[in-house]
Amino acid sequence: MSSAQRKTAIRITRAEDFPAWYQEVVKEAEMAEPSGVRGCMVIRPWGYGVWEQIQKRLDQRIRETGHQNCYFPIFIPLDLIEKEASHVEGFAKEMAVVTHHRLIQKDGKLVPDGQLEVPLVVRPTSETVIGEAFARWIRSYRDLPLKINQWANVVRWEMRPRVFLRTSEFLWQEGHTAHASRDEALDETAMMLEVYRDLSENWLAVPVIAGEKPESERFPGAVETHCIEAMMQDGKALQAGTSHFLGQNFSKAANIQYQTRDGGLELAYTTSWGASTRLIGALIMTHSDDDGLRLPPAVAPSQIVILPIIRDEASAADVMAAVDALAARLAAERYLDLPVRVEVDRRDMNAGEKRWSWIKRGVPVILEVGPRDVASGSVAVTERVALDQKKAIIPQDELVSGIATRLALIQKQLFDQAVAFRATRIRADITDYDAFRAFFSKEGSDFAGDLGFVRAPWCGTRESETKLDDLGVTIRCLPYDQGDIAGRACVLTGAPATVEAIFAKSY
Ligand code: AMP
Repeated sequence: MSSAQRKTAIRITRAEDFPAWYQEVVKEAEMAEPSGVRGCMVIRPWGYGVWEQIQKRLDQRIRETGHQNCYFPIFIPLDLIEKEASHVEGFAKEMAVVTHHRLIQKDGKLVPDGQLEVPLVVRPTSETVIGEAFARWIRSYRDLPLKINQWANVVRWEMRPRVFLRTSEFLWQEGHTAHASRDEALDETAMMLEVYRDLSENWLAVPVIAGEKPESERFPGAVETHCIEAMMQDGKALQAGTSHFLGQNFSKAANIQYQTRDGGLELAYTTSWGASTRLIGALIMTHSDDDGLRLPPAVAPSQIVILPIIRDEASAADVMAAVDALAARLAAERYLDLPVRVEVDRRDMNAGEKRWSWIKRGVPVILEVGPRDVASGSVAVTERVALDQKKAIIPQDELVSGIATRLALIQKQLFDQAVAFRATRIRADITDYDAFRAFFSKEGSDFAGDLGFVRAPWCGTRESETKLDDLGVTIRCLPYDQGDIAGRACVLTGAPATVEAIFAKSY
């Protein structure tokens, strides 16, 4: 049977229905499930394990780049969030607001009571409350730069939620910094975007395009928003991380002033940057196939699973002893400066079913050890990245000594495959609006079609963007690696172009 005809582990394929396939992968890989509250999710241990790996790496980088962790309250008084006008305007439509502080019985029903004098917003992001603290903490130039981060949950009332990609409650880190000079704040903004690029490409194996957002896509209250944009397997873009240069906007609102070296008084320049559980959605939509998730070893909660193959009672003890010994040897090896993460699946269930459960969960390496392997010192190896999923029988010694190299190669293969896919879906040859419109108007053009990014010259005006609205397309970013646009015309208007842009449909 060819792979096209083979029964897939995920009952809906990417080509059949990409959004439904995504939901199935999330479910079958036991990553998360919808909760009783629309837009909120239950993150299951395997999904949370991926988040913990992402957190571990990102937290390390956040510390190495000079930030300290702290924690602020989940509630922000309404009068505080109102202080920065464009900020509150940007978030107004998606804020959850607490108006009461207790419940009472009335006509046999529980009803809210005890109205709050000042309603409390459930934080959609924390610039305002952290800005207020910065104003207290910062007195002189000696207090700068001030660089903090918090790991938290935030709430943005999303009308079109999608598990991991866009949820009403999500987990993230938000970094907030204050600086004496504009240049220093701009350097910070760039440095943290680079941290996100590295995390995405080298740990999640998700290639991204880094660049600046056009004005229309900026974070509410920001002077500049920088981002990394990834391409999903249906050709849509996903913003995977953002870093904002806030200028003095939030300093003005919160009065973050400092005394300069020569006794003057200045407003600080601030930045903020965040990455969320959306990264897990990016990972799933980039790497998964019709058999389920494929996890890059760098962020897999377990990089290797060992399945003991028990044929009969007599050899069971020998097999288990060999499995435990192999697990211990592998765990003593290191990959990316950390002990190799290995798990033994001792569940009492059908071997085939067990194996498929790990394929769907995307564990990078599956090992099987049965009585014959015990006798010969060998092991059956399956790599999730290999499309045919064939088993190779190799000596255990060879497996152990080569495990770091093997994991590194799997990591590289996933990244290379994603880069190759993206290359087939970036169009740089669309030069006029008719062709542009035709490209983005094709029905059902997603995984099975050729939907993707258009990279083209743009005139940079707000008016030209109205031509994108009815196509459901946005400018994802103005990439840092600008092509030569001298003498070229804007793809939307035909006017002289000022910059090269990435256009796409997006999540
Ligand atoms: P922002 O504060 O809007 O710049 O967003 C910071 C990060 O959170 C970005 O990387 C976004 O991709 C991500 N993000 C924004 N909204 C959501 C959401 N509803 N669900 C998950 N992640 C989100």
